Amino acid sequence: MEKTDNVYVKLFFLASFIIFQFLSVTTVFSQEKLKVYFLLSVDWEGDTLRDANLAAMQRFNRAFPEFPVIHFLNAAYYTKNWEMSEMEVTSRIKSVLKSNDEIGMHIHSWENFVKASGVEFRDGPSFWGDLSISRNGERGDDVPLNSYSEKEIQKQISYSKKVFKKFGLGIPKSFRGGGWMSGSNVWNALVKEGIYIDSSAVPGELVNNLYPDSNLSKLHQALWLGIDETLGPYHTTEQMIQFPNNLGLADYVDEIEFMDKYLRLYRQAVQSGKKELYIHFGWHQESAVEYFKHDENNHGRMRLVRSDYLERVEKIINTVKAHAQKNNVELIPSGFEKFPKMKILGQGAACASIARGIFLKSK
Ligand SMILES: [Zn+2]
Repeated sequence: MEKTDNVYVKLFFLASFIIFQFLSVTTVFSQEKLKVYFLLSVDWEGDTLRDANLAAMQRFNRAFPEFPVIHFLNAAYYTKNWEMSEMEVTSRIKSVLKSNDEIGMHIHSWENFVKASGVEFRDGPSFWGDLSISRNGERGDDVPLNSYSEKEIQKQISYSKKVFKKFGLGIPKSFRGGGWMSGSNVWNALVKEGIYIDSSAVPGELVNNLYPDSNLSKLHQALWLGIDETLGPYHTTEQMIQFPNNLGLADYVDEIEFMDKYLRLYRQAVQSGKKELYIHFGWHQESAVEYFKHDENNHGRMRLVRSDYLERVEKIINTVKAHAQKNNVELIPSGFEKFPKMKILGQGAACASIARGIFLKSK
């Protein structure tokens, strides 16, 4: 009898163990994965098209083909006083565009570009508060686009579209202002030119890290009040959708800061049972691996320096991928055009702060 009892006890524990295992497995499977929409965008400054930066972006494309890159291209490469032919400019730009990428527009109001678009050039005030400083022989890139009138802005947008068309760069569907500058005059001009997506919104804090107390920082605080990294896409007006650059660009945010912010957003989402997370990061073509910097020790002359900005993006993607595999996260490389429409919130909201955090609150 004793022996039989022992067998029953053993069977009971074995059965309990199997049931426990089954329950925990079903719990894991039934738990819905957190969807992380990961967007990457590149600002093309209209300044340089250096071999090293383009080669690095080609390597990036080979390493991460599943990521559609949103290219905010710039027509100003075609209005520069330089040796490079229009054909050479086009072939350099196209050398980094892959089939699943998206074409957007970036504008810095460089003098030659502004004049070519039929607008009278303004030499200030710049992002730094004074007259524009010449960079590589041309000035104007530091004069905020939104300091021009709506009509003048529309001319610059319309001219850029013509240039893109002429050189087969495609029809831009989205926009980012130089220095993350847009606003109502820019949005009105964009809508008139058939562009309904802006991605100029940025958390002021990220820019302030690099340029504390600058005029640029003050402009951002006024323009993007209430924008922080929790903010997903929303309607600034009925027609215009804003896709905030909520995690900034690699020359402003390093791996440590990115992961700190990312993990905070992740934990916040998990704790409150949210189902989606919007992450938008990127880099500048001009400084992917090397760029020109004003040398303070040499009368402010330009000096070529190395950067690890694109490498940062690669490290971040790999870290986020590894985290996703371990933590029941579905990582979705995304662009603007295929972004689920129902996830775009705040329709009719005139003010960004209304939509603050709404994306995370959805469902
Ligand atoms: Zn820019």
